[in-house]
Amino acid sequence: MPEAAPGCDEFDPNAKTLEQARAAILETCQALTATEEVSLEEALGRTLAEAVHARIDVPPAAVSAMDGYALRTEDAREDTTLELIGTSAAGHPWEGEVGPGQCVRILTGAVVPDGAEVVIMQEQVHVTEDGHGIRLLKGRFAPRHNIREAGSDTAANTPLYAPGQVFGAAEVGVLATQGISRIPVLRRPRVAFFSTGDELVPLGQPLGPGQIHDSNRHTLRALLRSCPVEALDYGVIRDTEEEVREALTRAGEEADLIITTGGVSVGDADHVTRVLQASGQIGFWKLAIKPGRPLAFGRFGRAHFFGLPGNPVAVMTTFALLARPALLALAGRSADAPRTIRARLEEDLHKTPGRKDFQRGLLRAEGDDWSVRPVRGQNSHQLRAMSEANAYIVLPRESDGARAGEQVEVLPFAEIFPESFG
Ligand code: AMP
Ligand code: MG
Repeated sequence: MPEAAPGCDEFDPNAKTLEQARAAILETCQALTATEEVSLEEALGRTLAEAVHARIDVPPAAVSAMDGYALRTEDAREDTTLELIGTSAAGHPWEGEVGPGQCVRILTGAVVPDGAEVVIMQEQVHVTEDGHGIRLLKGRFAPRHNIREAGSDTAANTPLYAPGQVFGAAEVGVLATQGISRIPVLRRPRVAFFSTGDELVPLGQPLGPGQIHDSNRHTLRALLRSCPVEALDYGVIRDTEEEVREALTRAGEEADLIITTGGVSVGDADHVTRVLQASGQIGFWKLAIKPGRPLAFGRFGRAHFFGLPGNPVAVMTTFALLARPALLALAGRSADAPRTIRARLEEDLHKTPGRKDFQRGLLRAEGDDWSVRPVRGQNSHQLRAMSEANAYIVLPRESDGARAGEQVEVLPFAEIFPESFG
């Protein structure tokens, strides 16, 4: 390809904008419909596949909200003295009936005995000296005072959760109140991922001439931890057509989506390109974003395919902006464009028009507003700058930069690289 004129080298009329690429990807990646059953212990973060109804009333019976005394409403008068005839404790209901002039000692969560209509908290009564009765220090309580009715949390047969509900701690707890121990959920997308490159050496091995450690695969594995997927690590694949073909063939059978890094340019060693052209359905996209120009997207075997660039910062950026939404969509989750904020730029930034720029920046609060500055090391191999940054400074495609003091668009990393706890 001939070199473009200086200053215009970033213009490419065939390059896809980020928005076009996202739209095409989201149209292709439809939610998986396969389901499986998991135990409640494994339900956190999973997506419900079928509607769930309440099976029982919760609480199953009227219970006391307080430690106190259960009695009839007509006896709830100041200075009345009542006979104490038993105790109802949580898990140990008192079986008799409370008659006029009688009361039962009751503890929080204990079933309200038959006949009783109110619970008076223990601070509002005086126990008689012989311990066989109580005198009320206050009067007039509305019927059902301090009583939690059967079904007052959830009534039996109430619809609880619809398909698509993602399980958080509260939902797990609610199903536990129902005694439901297994639920039908959507199967998580299986993501096979591997690095390509003859220069790549596993960790723990010394580097020979021309070699580097394979960092992309570790970054990807970490990124996948914050996605609702099952990750399949295929390791490092050498730059030979056979190895690439073998790995893709296996992944195309086992996975719902394949992510590779490297080898998607048009160099001699870019076998991913060649194998995909021969045996997959692939579009090679020039993306109008920086970093991350070359990207392959399509299918191989049964799986969707993402060929990410090899440069580590481009890997993180294209993963976050394009592969992650695809995974969320496959998992049946919403994949809305990430939310950006506006911040005051602390120093001048320069760029060449033609690509939407995602510079690595440090965002900080400035009173009620935000300010942002670029971190050092804006080349796509400078991965360390990613860990010094906490946000992308997003500069529009046509712009040639921004001046200090201007408001710029900022994409906080927290939006696209959610914290993961393993
Ligand atoms: P490629 O797209 O294969 O030409 O790779 C572009 C650049 O990214 C080269 O400098 C590669 O050495 C580097 N690179 C490719 N794969 C990895 C990887 N797994 N870990 C770290 N750097 C990589
Ligand atoms: Mg390579």
